[in-house]
Amino acid sequence: MALDDGTTHLTYHALDAATDRFARCLLGRGLRTGDRIGLALPKSTGQVVALLGALRAGIAVVPLDAAAAVPYVTDVIARTRPALILGDHPARHATPAVTWLPALADDAPESGLAAMGADQPVPAATEAIVLFTSGSTGRPKAVAHTHRTVLAGVQALRQAWGITASDRLLHILPMTHAHGLIIALMPLLIAGGRLDLRPRFDPADVVRRLPMATCFMGVPIHYAQLLDHPGFNAGAASGIRLFTSGSAPLPDDLRRSVEARTHKPLLERYGMTETLITTANAPDAFRPGSVGRVLPGADLRIRDLETGELVAPGGEGEVEVRGDFVFDGYQDDPSETALAFGPDGFFRTGDVGQLDAESFLTLSGRSKDVVIYAGLKIHPAEVEAALRQVEGVADACAFGIPHPRTGMSLLAAIVPKPGVALDPATVRLALVAALAPTKIPKRIHLVDALPRNAMGKLRRDVLRARFAAD
Ligand code: ATP
Ligand code: MG
Repeated sequence: MALDDGTTHLTYHALDAATDRFARCLLGRGLRTGDRIGLALPKSTGQVVALLGALRAGIAVVPLDAAAAVPYVTDVIARTRPALILGDHPARHATPAVTWLPALADDAPESGLAAMGADQPVPAATEAIVLFTSGSTGRPKAVAHTHRTVLAGVQALRQAWGITASDRLLHILPMTHAHGLIIALMPLLIAGGRLDLRPRFDPADVVRRLPMATCFMGVPIHYAQLLDHPGFNAGAASGIRLFTSGSAPLPDDLRRSVEARTHKPLLERYGMTETLITTANAPDAFRPGSVGRVLPGADLRIRDLETGELVAPGGEGEVEVRGDFVFDGYQDDPSETALAFGPDGFFRTGDVGQLDAESFLTLSGRSKDVVIYAGLKIHPAEVEAALRQVEGVADACAFGIPHPRTGMSLLAAIVPKPGVALDPATVRLALVAALAPTKIPKRIHLVDALPRNAMGKLRRDVLRARFAAD
């Protein structure tokens, strides 16, 4: 069995036949290499068939998120110009020039791809998938991965995590970002493993199905929600050999709680839309608190943020990567591309971290989120960790806003635990023992929830805009 979405299941043989048929349908409609199709299909076996069918035909895929707002989807369509879009989204009414089809009519010519002259392997440099970054630091950027970069990333990951045909992944991530669409799905597919595709993340559903799985991949907030479910325990997790977390920083206390509950290590990994998976902990080589080692096929180095010099292990700076799975450049933005790559082809990630003597990377935050207060650098993560230790605080986010005298001022938003009445002044007082005076936020705001995107990433920009004027 390859795929099961609860309604339809496909063996590898059936998946191959369906993929072939879908590829022929696209070619039969006159689409050719260099064209793109949009996929606005719900998460399902059919969506995977469409993805693989397009790739087999040499046609690139632009995933469209059903939950995204109309202006966002309209912008993605305008910037990627798909020849047709499968599925539905309210943005259909705003894009009359584009052909939207609920599904592809099964009008494939009966003979195989060979009869259409399309049985040659797709050249490695062919565009495969166009993804958009999360927009955490500005306008989302369009990133095109080729067959070469996708395959390199997927093979490196399969090797690092030792994925085989006996693996079974409980897949709960949306298939619109690299994490769900490439990193979770594809290593299992090339290894011949099995995927249980769940339409969305639901803790009760995960607890029910975890005993059948060997792998589970999530973002930190998924694990935080699973801890609220008593069924998330060592018994349910006994068959798991790979629990991974990524897309956003994993707080240390959350990692410890998950490990105490499941008796399994929670392996953190770090990636970006532009570089797919950059570093990963592996079952046979992991370091708690670190995001792991760079995957085979890439080089990683650290550059001092102020001097611009490369730094030795133990020193902090911006993470730079070069390698087989790094993208070539932003789609419609040559100036952003020029800023992103150094002269020797290393990509500047915008993330700040340090390597230890054994090449394990630890991240401290993003360079754009560092709050420079009167010349001192403050990483929000350190302040947030201290805030989460304060009695009654469920979650916290620290961020900087411009300040006329000190350059920037440090603020924080905190979410109280249910039923707890928190007083910001008392919370500030509680920080005195844990943080240097300059790292104590000038103002702490109480909020019901922190703004996050679909992948659980904090939207500091939303908090900055909301509290800058107060
Ligand atoms: P944009 O580039 O549009 O500002 P974004 O960087 O959030 O948004 P993505 O490509 O989806 O867009 O996310 C990549 C970023 O996610 C990384 O650069 C890093 O900051 C963060 N990230 C991913 N994994 C981890 C991790 N394990 N720990 C900390 N941060 C992580
Ligand atoms: Mg980014």
